[in-house]
Amino acid sequence: MIQFENVTKTYNNGVKGLKNINLTINDGEFVSVIGLSGAGKSTLLRSINRLNEITEGNINIDGASITKANKRDLRRIRRNIGMIFQHFNLVKKSSVQKNIISGRLGYYSTLKSIFGIFSKEDYALVNDALGRVGLADKLHSRSDELSGGQQQRVSIARTLVQQASIILADEPVASLDPITTQKIMKDLKKINQELNHTVVINLHSVDLAREFSSRIIGLRDGEVVFDGTAAEATDEV
Ligand code: ADP
Ligand code: ADP
Repeated sequence: MIQFENVTKTYNNGVKGLKNINLTINDGEFVSVIGLSGAGKSTLLRSINRLNEITEGNINIDGASITKANKRDLRRIRRNIGMIFQHFNLVKKSSVQKNIISGRLGYYSTLKSIFGIFSKEDYALVNDALGRVGLADKLHSRSDELSGGQQQRVSIARTLVQQASIILADEPVASLDPITTQKIMKDLKKINQELNHTVVINLHSVDLAREFSSRIIGLRDGEVVFDGTAAEATDEV
């Protein structure tokens, strides 16, 4: 469960990215956050795993405050939160397999990751994750040899191997064509339904949000202006 309690984010230049947000996102929800550019979507999403430090209020993840967490607790909480970005953020020259296994770095010493000593369980997780996103044959490909859609599926697989039960996706389809966009959204939806992972996704398109999410949160100028089901969401949201 993700809880925002009176959350405000004021950037150094005085701009308020978020204004007194109160929200609860329950386990297994598929939530789309929509709004125009500058509405605060990215600020909201990045606050959840504290990539952004909030200025006021508190955020709880499964009952524990990530806002007040010390370094060790922060690492522990973040292990349960996978992140997907618009530009994929993969290690380009590294294989699909290595990129995905890096999702489990929390479990590894640096040496293990450098020398690539992985366990049977690691390989099993990687294979399962790649199967779920339909890329089983790409295990040894270099990640920069894949298409944008394939790279995004690798980053989805990485969150699966991380065994994160919360997936945050910041405009994951913004640089993809419509057909690839559908595939990525379907993958995320499938993971949400089959594994009960919570998905919070930033989108530009209301149509896409309506098609895939159980709940839509509309932001404007750092405030929640809509919070309801896909059926309730109108084009003005
Ligand atoms: P969105 O993701 O909806 O496009 P953002 O969360 O990126 O919106 O931005 C919300 C507001 O905060 C905007 O006014 C933006 O200009 C501002 N903002 C975002 N990041 C920064 C930053 N690092 N420094 C100052 N202002 C920022
Ligand atoms: P390397 O460490 O150079 O990758 P390995 O002999 O450990 O060499 O493995 C070669 C490849 O065989 C691995 O990259 C992996 O894809 C595959 N592999 C090794 N062990 C397993 C395993 N237990 N399950 C599935 N695939 C494996």
